[in-house]
Amino acid sequence: MIIVMGREVTDGQVGTVVKKLESAGLKANISRGIERTVIGAIGDESRLDADMFTSLPGVESAMHIAKQYKIVSRESHKENTIVDIAGLKLGGNQIQIIAGPCSVETQEQMDLAAQFTHEAGCRLMRGGAFKPRTSPYAFQGKGVEGLDMFRKAASRYKLPIVTELMDVRQIDAFLEYDVDVIQIGTRNMQNFDLLKEVGRLNKPVILKRGMSATISEWLMSAEYIAAGGNHNIIFCERGIRTFETAYRNVLDVTAIPMLKKETHLPVIVDPSHAGGKAWMVAALSQAAIAAGADGLLVEMHPSPCDAWCDADQALTPEELKKLMVTLGAIAGAVGRTL
Ligand code: PEP
Ligand code: MN
Repeated sequence: MIIVMGREVTDGQVGTVVKKLESAGLKANISRGIERTVIGAIGDESRLDADMFTSLPGVESAMHIAKQYKIVSRESHKENTIVDIAGLKLGGNQIQIIAGPCSVETQEQMDLAAQFTHEAGCRLMRGGAFKPRTSPYAFQGKGVEGLDMFRKAASRYKLPIVTELMDVRQIDAFLEYDVDVIQIGTRNMQNFDLLKEVGRLNKPVILKRGMSATISEWLMSAEYIAAGGNHNIIFCERGIRTFETAYRNVLDVTAIPMLKKETHLPVIVDPSHAGGKAWMVAALSQAAIAAGADGLLVEMHPSPCDAWCDADQALTPEELKKLMVTLGAIAGAVGRTL
């Protein structure tokens, strides 16, 4: 961390900063210039906070120079991390497409969805049993019964299951049904207690980007999970909220190369919640794979117009099949397989 002090700074004020650094176990390197005095903190600055210093007299600003996210950073781990999901690899050369309905509705719907996911060539399945809905009067998900339906449907095709965890009280049920990948939704990206609990589990986690979260906030959230010992984290870009109202969210394609540079962990994209319209899903999916995403999380419903949730953005089984063919070609063009 460096602490910048103004032109009029006194020796006493510099002394106070130095004392504060020393009491945190660090040393100070003081550099006196004509315009400014700059104090460099030497040692482990992870426990320092900028506002420990900005509130002191004479201090103009304080900033970290080392990255706050350590475990998830590319600096700490040069090679790409490949997350193992029930024997399937995500983050390696092979791209993984996770498909399935927004929400678990009925056993029949899930059985059909599993069949179509498998027939399209996807190796993992999604489906929400606990749904974060904007309105408390909207369908909230089938809950534990939904996990049961999901597990039964997916087992027939040996598809690992991806489903959203909204609350720590649901963890026991997730373990009982042996959920393969825990999804943390956009609305919970900064639910730090939830992240800490997930960090204690030995399960892969898909961490969706908060709808207005910066890259660094997102990385810090991943660090919460990693700090608990669970390093099986997959970032999922799902569109951010901007001034634009013509579509649900703006897919931040730029986030893909940025994250790839900053972290060794896999990055996937959810084109369905980004565009919010089924007709946009193919274009956004293609852009994501071309930009280096390790996979996709796509909504597909056996009969989209009957979907209980996010009907507008669900692909039909035929559209998913077609998309997989196109994605195969793009994957090949960027030196990967599907
Ligand atoms: C979902 O994937 O079903 C979902 C609710 O997504 P998000 O958290 O990105 O809105
Ligand atoms: Mn949805």
